[in-house]
Amino acid sequence: MRGFEKADQLGGLWVFREGENGKIYTSLRTNTATPTMQLPDFPTPPDYPPYMAHWQCKEYLQSFANHFGISQLFTLQAEVVEWTRDQIWKISVHCLDSDKSIRMDSLDADFLCLCIGQTGKPFIPQYDGSQLFEGLMMHSSAYRSPALFQRKSVLIIGMGHASGSDIAQEISFGAHQVWLSTRRGGLLLPRFINGRPSHLWGDKRLFLYLPMGCILPILQIFFTKHINDSFAQGSGPSLKMPFPDNKSKTNGNKIPEHPAAFVTTDCCNLLQRIAIGAIIKKPAVASFSQHGAEFVDGSSAKVDTIIWATGFERVNQPQFGYKLRLYCNIFVPSTPSVAYCMQVHPIGSHWALAQMQATWIAKVFSGKLALPDLDTMMRESREIEPHQSENICIEYEEMIQIAHQLGTSPPGFFMLLFRLCVRPVSTIAYLMMSLRQQYIKI
Ligand SMILES: Cc1cc2nc3c(=O)[nH]c(=O)nc-3n(C[C@H](O)[C@H](O)[C@H](O)COP(=O)(O)OP(=O)(O)OC[C@H]3O[C@@H](n4cnc5c(N)ncnc54)[C@H](O)[C@@H]3O)c2cc1C
Repeated sequence: MRGFEKADQLGGLWVFREGENGKIYTSLRTNTATPTMQLPDFPTPPDYPPYMAHWQCKEYLQSFANHFGISQLFTLQAEVVEWTRDQIWKISVHCLDSDKSIRMDSLDADFLCLCIGQTGKPFIPQYDGSQLFEGLMMHSSAYRSPALFQRKSVLIIGMGHASGSDIAQEISFGAHQVWLSTRRGGLLLPRFINGRPSHLWGDKRLFLYLPMGCILPILQIFFTKHINDSFAQGSGPSLKMPFPDNKSKTNGNKIPEHPAAFVTTDCCNLLQRIAIGAIIKKPAVASFSQHGAEFVDGSSAKVDTIIWATGFERVNQPQFGYKLRLYCNIFVPSTPSVAYCMQVHPIGSHWALAQMQATWIAKVFSGKLALPDLDTMMRESREIEPHQSENICIEYEEMIQIAHQLGTSPPGFFMLLFRLCVRPVSTIAYLMMSLRQQYIKI
């Protein structure tokens, strides 16, 4: 096995970098709890906090790679620039030599696994007049720290899963004024609920047995009562943080979005920053002018800086001539000797899903597990293509499908009821285990 990494060290986006190759900011902490992030057979150090800082993620991933001898298999500063198939894979690599010259390398391979991340191309939507704006316009992936924004008027567009909300809160402590524009409301998830990291509640296997249609109203009641009411004195709706409607179709999205797409982890307390006026909540932007933006409700804001927290574009694969259409989000049906690891967003830890996917890929490539026939893979990948291409949150059912392949699928509803009758204690204990722990046990 050989690996190529275009950066100068392993760790992916968790390596803090200034400049255009960086993706993260100095204050970034995971929004998924540490126990859900740790990989099998390699616990996180005991002194790690419940939510890791970005540098701890980097250290952990690099120690993992060193411990299991993965680092030796990688060539650093080597960018894979082309891969074509002719009986076998022909891979072309640009390697950066010590004298900074680029050397062309090539190799043949039977199998190819692409772990290229999902943050290659920042997504900035087009709006009327955006070219007129005279201030600073940047994507959230270029944001590093609040220093640049002291005494500035800043508009942040989009909340994302955390970045827009994190950046708005952080900047709001020194900025002249911050505006936060979102097209819809959001599920604002605090990092802790009753003293326990919130993702540890969310990972309960019980959620598997509830249809998504039930989960949303339950969350709505909980979030409105517990979070909006207690943290912002019942002012959630008046702060223009309405609860999202999962049937709303936004910006060309043709399918209802998964509730997970609405969840924003709240790093501190966004609602209080809004309640005291440090952040002004705004609806969607309608257009831009030289000095600011106008919103769909007719209001406007005069700003120096606009930060787009609008996520990233999916990487199309010209080699295959279509948008990602992958069997189980991983394998290219017509060419199963190539696989993508992590081209979706799971609910919860990305690393746990990456581990499951990587294990499956390794078993298929080494001949230990077979894939279904071409027709089945084509049919199933076509079915999930719209959701894969537009709404990249992986469904529970899709996670279960992978787990099933690895021989660890959870019991069905009736089997669970039966188990509860005959072995209540062990079944409840089983339900209390996180999804991740069950799935990766192979
Ligand atoms: C701001 C931010 C916060 C996040 N927070 C969390 C969190 O709290 N919890 C969570 O679970 N997930 C989080 N994520 C998701 C994160 O993407 C995953 O956790 C995960 O680390 C992604 O790993 P990856 O290997 O898929 O991608 P990356 O970390 O992006 O790694 C891809 C690597 O591929 C290399 N590469 C790309 N193309 C080539 C090429 N052609 N040749 C050679 N090398 C190449 C890149 O240099 C890079 O090192 C966050 C993401 C962002 C952007």
